[in-house]
Amino acid sequence: MAATAAQRTGEAGARGHVVFVPSAGMGHLLPFSRFIGALSRHDVDISVVTVVPTVSAAEADQLAALFNDFPRLRRIDFHLLPLDASEFPGADPFVLRWEALRRSMHLLGPLIAGVTPRVTAVVSDVTLVSQVNPIAKDLHLQCYVLFVSSATMMSLNSYFPIYLDNKDAEADVGDVDIPGVGRIARSWLPQPLLDMNKLFTKQFIENGRENAKTDGILINTFDALEPVALAALRDSKVVRGFPSVFAVGPYSSLASEMKDAGAEVEDSTLSWLHQQPARSVVYVAFGNRSAVSHEQLREIAAGLEASGCRFLGVLKTTGGGRAARDSLRDVLGDGFLERVQGRGMVTKAWVDQEAVLGHPAVGLFLSHSGWNSVTEAAAAGMPLLAWPRGGDHRVAATVVASSGVGVWMEHWSWDGEEWLVSGEEIGAKVKEMMADGAAREKAARGGEEAAKAVAVGGSSHTSMLEFVAKLKAT
Ligand code: UDP
Ligand code: UDP
Repeated sequence: MAATAAQRTGEAGARGHVVFVPSAGMGHLLPFSRFIGALSRHDVDISVVTVVPTVSAAEADQLAALFNDFPRLRRIDFHLLPLDASEFPGADPFVLRWEALRRSMHLLGPLIAGVTPRVTAVVSDVTLVSQVNPIAKDLHLQCYVLFVSSATMMSLNSYFPIYLDNKDAEADVGDVDIPGVGRIARSWLPQPLLDMNKLFTKQFIENGRENAKTDGILINTFDALEPVALAALRDSKVVRGFPSVFAVGPYSSLASEMKDAGAEVEDSTLSWLHQQPARSVVYVAFGNRSAVSHEQLREIAAGLEASGCRFLGVLKTTGGGRAARDSLRDVLGDGFLERVQGRGMVTKAWVDQEAVLGHPAVGLFLSHSGWNSVTEAAAAGMPLLAWPRGGDHRVAATVVASSGVGVWMEHWSWDGEEWLVSGEEIGAKVKEMMADGAAREKAARGGEEAAKAVAVGGSSHTSMLEFVAKLKAT
């Protein structure tokens, strides 16, 4: 007789039924999908709260791929109340969607109260937790946060409200000393946090206070990557009485992730890589929607050309930025693509980043250090040259530097800084890192740690089993 999933994973007890409440943006949806994929191997029922239309086409494709990959997932369609966007002039469309979700969350209670089999736990994105946790508590359900950034960022999110409570209300936001974790300089903070009137800041503060009131926090990290921040959270040094922290990463991507729109180009990217010598290619990518000006992109292109290295560049492909609308020729300038033909490839399409990072031809990742990219580089043992662009990227870059995943160019420009980093400087740094055997070895050792963490008996694997056991303890 075939073993059940419970027998295979050695779990006992009643099945739990977990409802996931993801938020908007690929940086949130991808790690949710990956975690759901990992949890599906255990003996639990899973439902996913789904809002259509999504903000971006990439998110719609990703949701379709998720339900296709895991036919046993239940889909709970959720309808948003209308939000008057004119209330928030200039707000980012994703932050606006977070607000629309937050203001509609009271409709979630009745929806999940009627679901069968009976729901036992809710797993919320951090952007929604101050709304979701009270609803879960009313229904006597466990509530967890699935955090899509680092443990260091979780400590900032949870400590920031306390920091503000203790600071003179009139004084400017300065460096934030997180107990047990260390100093986050003012210039490394997600820059909206410097303005208390920003919608993002209000949400961040409310959610940050709520984290400690949940039943636990799941984080896409592992003990060897962020030992200090994880210990500080777990020892309640950051916030007194903090709940369980499950470091369950690094997640790996799902089989059918985003294969439709980019299939053709993705194949040509990988077949191009197959023809390149080992560790000869610099992979350059700044995530789904990180703004890099045309002028700065041209400096990056000049730097790559001057470095003499082979390269694969992915320009922003989704999210509707300037680079997405303009042709590569407009962005990179006349003659560039011809001059680098054969040794450089540039694409606007979706690439399978995990496959690229695992490819033997790739030797360096020049990245905005979005957290998903950092964990993917860590898992691949690929040295990362971090050039943060905004949001939580500088906080993530502190982990890149402290863990040995790579090097952080701390003085390179970011959010709101208009000056350009010169092609000369970029080219010289890329060339230096491509020749840096010690950095390569350090990153490779990190990759071994990542593999150990998710293997049976490793810290992340054990954390996952502890989480599943809690789900069944109701
Ligand atoms: N964040 C948070 N609490 C909130 C809202 C956001 O901790 O209530 C985090 C979020 O997970 C991310 C960062 O703040 O790590 C925001 O980064 P960014 O502006 O790059 O946006 P995102 O990557 O989430 O789209
Ligand atoms: N990604 C990808 N192919 C692309 C663009 C992005 O696979 O062409 C994936 C990448 O592997 C990562 C995620 O999209 O998992 C980007 O998340 P990250 O946190 O690095 O940056 P964000 O886009 O949220 O700024």
